[in-house]
Amino acid sequence: MDSYIKKWNDLILNCSFDNTYKMAWAKALVELSVTTNEHKEDIIIFDFNEIAKLFVKYYWNQTIHFNLIQGSNIKKPPEIISYIKELISLFFKRKQSLQPIRFEKMDFNTIGLSREYEITIKNTVKTLKQDVCWRFKNLNRETYDIYELDRNEGKVFLYKNDVLKIKQFSDILFTEINYRWTQMLEGFNYSPRISRKVRAIDDNNIKRASLKKFHHYLDLMFEDGNRKCFYCGENLLESEISVDHVIPWSYMFSDDLWNLVYCHKGENSKKSNRLPSEEDIARLEERNKQLLQRMQNNTKDYDQLQIAVEKDYVKKFWISFKG
Ligand SMILES: [Zn+2]
Repeated sequence: MDSYIKKWNDLILNCSFDNTYKMAWAKALVELSVTTNEHKEDIIIFDFNEIAKLFVKYYWNQTIHFNLIQGSNIKKPPEIISYIKELISLFFKRKQSLQPIRFEKMDFNTIGLSREYEITIKNTVKTLKQDVCWRFKNLNRETYDIYELDRNEGKVFLYKNDVLKIKQFSDILFTEINYRWTQMLEGFNYSPRISRKVRAIDDNNIKRASLKKFHHYLDLMFEDGNRKCFYCGENLLESEISVDHVIPWSYMFSDDLWNLVYCHKGENSKKSNRLPSEEDIARLEERNKQLLQRMQNNTKDYDQLQIAVEKDYVKKFWISFKG
């Protein structure tokens, strides 16, 4: 392999970490190398402002969909993540909805958050200067000369030939970065299916399937035909019915019968990523036992519910979700 790319490999696969900044940094530099058209000069310059925008993009998408933990200290998220979480919560407030939107589709101007967005970028640049830009080049007390920095001005300098090599090997580099990023997240997060989540975010392929197919199972709990809301216990009109993930979908990233209940539409959209109560969890466990008795025992769905009951998934995932 090319010796310059070999250095990138070493840094990506062997770097130390207590948060995921280094991977966001590496990914941003590769993405800028792929998209740059400045091929006239011998030296190519990337501005920290551009890098910061990509940081915000990566972390916005991972946070708004799955709220992934990006550092080893759960109580104190890395600075840049705090800025982005603040921006996301302002966005939800303006929208008066908890519906996630990808960063690429965001228009901070029209929702009146362009100033807040600019501040987020500025703060991110500050952290890049202090913390991230030089650390990435260091491995085992050695500094790898893969780029030069002007930390005051916030600029990265690369030889044109090196940028062209990064471009040429970008598929491999992106794969390595995502692999390593996933590995870090698996160390920081309890939630299941991390690699599937990371891939789904990257491929822009976060689909939420219709939950209608679960109705005929959930209906088994209401033999008189009166469906009741799991949370308030009241009867549900046809028009009010919603199927809810008791442990949030953003945590599970899957639709499992053992985690699904009927509830009022309004309650569902208010709930979002909130933690279910211990009492809800106890009732869900009881519901699952009863539901299992009412189901025919020759289907895959029966087998899955049986495993969930036997292994007590409800309690286990709830405890890990609580952290
Ligand atoms: Zn209700």
